[in-house]
Amino acid sequence: MAFLFKNGEQLYTEGLDMIGRRDFSGAKKKFTDATQKGYTNDGLAQVYIGILDVGANRSSLGCYKTLRNALGDLKINSFKFGLTDIDVADLIAETELDIKEIEANNLPDSLYKEKSAALIACAGEFMARIGEKNLKFDEIFKGTTAATGNREALILQAEGYYVLGEGSVSEDPKMASEYMQMSYNFRRQLGDSGDQELKLAQDYARSARCWICGRPANGEGIHFQPMRSTIAPVFAKETEGDIVKPISEDVRSIYVCVPCYTAISNRSDDISRVYYERAMAEVHAIEARLEAEIASVRFSASMHR
Ligand SMILES: [Zn+2]
Repeated sequence: MAFLFKNGEQLYTEGLDMIGRRDFSGAKKKFTDATQKGYTNDGLAQVYIGILDVGANRSSLGCYKTLRNALGDLKINSFKFGLTDIDVADLIAETELDIKEIEANNLPDSLYKEKSAALIACAGEFMARIGEKNLKFDEIFKGTTAATGNREALILQAEGYYVLGEGSVSEDPKMASEYMQMSYNFRRQLGDSGDQELKLAQDYARSARCWICGRPANGEGIHFQPMRSTIAPVFAKETEGDIVKPISEDVRSIYVCVPCYTAISNRSDDISRVYYERAMAEVHAIEARLEAEIASVRFSASMHR
């Protein structure tokens, strides 16, 4: 009868076996049961629970913070998670940096200066504290040792400069274009195409003169827009010597600064709304007339039965 009731240490050992078989939810239950029976193997059971929770919630600040505390209570320098050797100090560093990364990403885009600074600072710490070593959570949960501290730093820098570029474009498109270019360079180092970053860098850098008011503007799609237009050669010719063009290269659109553009669109929206309401009123009048006629036809038909 006695061996039907497992003691904490047996449950703990079963938890380790389940990690070996990658049955992570089963393992978590065993470690939890073991600690409830008073067996924690000097705090290592809580660390296993913490790692398993992080694996199941990779973006949860709370899970990383709980794990960080559990790691701080350990008296040993290393342990194994399945086949993976874990250095306690390295995992503390990774956990702390993941906390910083999540906190930086949680900042709203409206605080773009703070957000990009936090992301880029985090990148520096990944390089300094983890560097060429691989990230353990990716090894454990994704089976890859390709993700290193340095690689994570490149990702964070690409993100940081992207946020900075996107945020500053309304004030300074030239500078924003340079930030996007930097983000693109980090994407390329990661082996990504960086297509989106490159396109934004080019759009932000493009300048034009407003055909309507003559103001210069930087940042296509941000501070000026192309508007389809019929441009006779005589007009196109006039712009030939201009460094900053008021028409598109294919001579099918004029460039219009966003203040002029929005004024025109708002006005045309107002005009369309008047026409729309007038048209709808007529539709309703026709509808009412038809209904009345149908009713009278039905009435005379019923009289003839
Ligand atoms: Zn204008």
